[in-house]
Amino acid sequence: AKKAGRNRYAWFDRSMERAIQARNEIETGLRNAIPQGQIVPYFEQQIDLATGALAGFEVLARWEHPLRGLIEPDQFIPIAEETGLIADLSMSVMRQAFIAARDWDPDLVLAVNISPWQLKDAWLAQKIIKLLLETGFPARRLEIEITESALFDNLALAQSIAVSLKNQGIRLALDDFGTGYSSLAHLRALPFDRIKIDKCFVGSIAEKLESAAIVGAIARLGDSLNMPTTAEGVEDADTLERLRVMGCARAQGYHFGRPVSAANVRRLLAERRLI
Ligand code: C2E
Ligand code: CA
Ligand code: CA
Ligand code: CA
Repeated sequence: AKKAGRNRYAWFDRSMERAIQARNEIETGLRNAIPQGQIVPYFEQQIDLATGALAGFEVLARWEHPLRGLIEPDQFIPIAEETGLIADLSMSVMRQAFIAARDWDPDLVLAVNISPWQLKDAWLAQKIIKLLLETGFPARRLEIEITESALFDNLALAQSIAVSLKNQGIRLALDDFGTGYSSLAHLRALPFDRIKIDKCFVGSIAEKLESAAIVGAIARLGDSLNMPTTAEGVEDADTLERLRVMGCARAQGYHFGRPVSAANVRRLLAERRLI
């Protein structure tokens, strides 16, 4: 028994070692990947449910790794946050997205994600505004998605950043609504224009009465607060129809299409004469 125990520890050590090695590899890789332009924006369609028209896109980071292929953000965003690389990463993704989207149809909005870590930077609003000026992307076409967990740390700073962004005409969305802690309090903390309903509720409204009740309640809440809702994670027509009936304003998800590269967005827009 003693021997087996020792082997188990040996195995544990080796798997720990591999995990640490993989993490180090991502960290070193990431440092070079950002300046080399390997972290690129992908775009996921957002649809207006009243008209069925394309409203815009959520910008999602992807790592085009020369050896490993396309890497999804869950694998590198947490490491970028721990190492402080997230600021450079997000700014680089935003810059590329603004440049790609500035000559698309002027009604198309870009929704970009801001990490909780970035809300500790007192100059964040100024940096984003500068990026808009440099790239020629209009502020009124930009929406910034903030997760509610981001609001805990330094609420006063988050509020001042939010006011600076709003003064420029940039809109704010409360991301992942309902998944965090005391969401309702956060609705009043910052001047949000929109609520994003997380896919963990949306994905199951066709099967679970509870999910349907929650999404319906959030949609009504958003209506009465004058904060239209965007439902995330729509994977089929049935879910889409239910969301429409519930009064959600916008929807996104694999039902409309997976996130795609800027080149593929151009193709899609050219087909629809939106470019
Ligand atoms: P999020 O903001 O909640 O983004 C939505 C995630 O759900 C995306 O995953 C998207 O690809 C996925 N998704 C969209 N529609 C569907 C669907 O119909 N079904 C399913 N199963 N999934 C769907 P992704 O791209 O892997 O992004 C994961 C998270 O990484 C994002 O969650 C966001 O918090 C973060 N992230 C992505 N890009 C950036 C970035 O540039 N900066 C920062 N700070 N965070 C980012
Ligand atoms: Ca993913
Ligand atoms: Ca988001
Ligand atoms: Ca989400």
